[in-house]
Amino acid sequence: PRQPKPKPEWLKARAPVGDNYHNLKKLARSLNLHTVCESAHCPNIGECWNHKTATFMMLGNLCTRRCGFCAVPKGRPESIDFDEPRRVAEAVAQLGLKFAVITSVNRDDDIQGGARAFAMVIEEIRRQAPGCQVEVLIPDFQGNEEAIRTVVDAKPEILNHNTESVPRLYRAVRSGARYERTLRLLEFSKQVNPAVTTKTGVMVGLGEEMHELLNVFRDLAAVGTDVLTIGQYLRPSKDHLPMTRYYTPEEFAFMKEEALAMGFRHVESGPLVRSSYHAHEQADAASGV
Ligand code: SF4
Ligand code: SF4
Repeated sequence: PRQPKPKPEWLKARAPVGDNYHNLKKLARSLNLHTVCESAHCPNIGECWNHKTATFMMLGNLCTRRCGFCAVPKGRPESIDFDEPRRVAEAVAQLGLKFAVITSVNRDDDIQGGARAFAMVIEEIRRQAPGCQVEVLIPDFQGNEEAIRTVVDAKPEILNHNTESVPRLYRAVRSGARYERTLRLLEFSKQVNPAVTTKTGVMVGLGEEMHELLNVFRDLAAVGTDVLTIGQYLRPSKDHLPMTRYYTPEEFAFMKEEALAMGFRHVESGPLVRSSYHAHEQADAASGV
């Protein structure tokens, strides 16, 4: 199907402006870093960067997986650059970020190395930018418990792993992933350290039904997930999965209410919500501040 048109008023992106925006862009270039904010053409970039929140992408810009919604190029990546965590922390410190989100491509070629890089970036940010809160948005490490433990033991404020979609659509949306594995990762992280806030996100508009989404929220709540984000899928290009429909602001409000009733401590639900949107507020809410 074709992309539904026209784009509703509530999805019109705001222009990126402000000094922080320009500084972050320049610094990211000079340290050879990648931000998801830029590469995903995130509509919230002006707001986030001016609130000193940004999402960095580590471990290269080629991914070993081929999720149907994702604009990250696919291919065989180079070996992991273990100096990158230090440079990310340097950027975080220089920019005076209050909240840093660190994510990566999938590195199915080096699972333990990928986990180690996440632990290192948390430690480096603690050292170079002690006041900054850290959220790691991690790949599934193929469910490898040693790798998950490596990241949890470095004590990020938030450990995020996205569920993305309902199990029926996993093959098209996240072909390399397994729904049960995602649930288990969130459950296991809580077991390793109950003090770490766990978080996940889903996209809507990929062809799922509302009752399927509510089942997913129930499963996620049952494994103790603290924070849930729900946002509108927007097709990055014609080569990506089609978007089946726009959810209305009322539907986002409905899902938020339902999810809160299931026991999540914090839910962000809206057309422009991305997994790191308003992340600093989620950390505060989840830790009871
Ligand atoms: Fe960056 Fe996330 Fe904000 Fe988008 S929502 S601008 S990816 S920090
Ligand atoms: Fe994109 Fe992540 Fe999927 Fe790789 S694993 S294709 S980076 S969503």
